[in-house]
Amino acid sequence: MAENTMNLNIKLDELDDYHCTECGGIQFAPIFGIKVIGAIQSPTGRAGSLHHQMGFMCSGCGAAKTIVDISNECKKAADNSAKSLIEIPYRVVTEGEEGKKE
Ligand SMILES: [Zn+2]
Repeated sequence: MAENTMNLNIKLDELDDYHCTECGGIQFAPIFGIKVIGAIQSPTGRAGSLHHQMGFMCSGCGAAKTIVDISNECKKAADNSAKSLIEIPYRVVTEGEEGKKE
């Protein structure tokens, strides 16, 4: 196991579901974008395609959101939840601050 990983035992049934903001649904399908890659750009030297996940689409109504948008909405919901009352202290280091002595 890598040095900077941490295992958490989280029971999924104890976590709140993310709901579609349009219909309230809780099931989502991944949305992939597909890029055309030329032979010169390809690590194999052969032209083809690359796919990358762009977001999720609600299985109920088809509303689509990016992973970043969903993550931000979940963060907001967690921040407003009583489950976030125990906060882990942390310090944000801004660019150029790393070498400063206090
Ligand atoms: Zn929906």
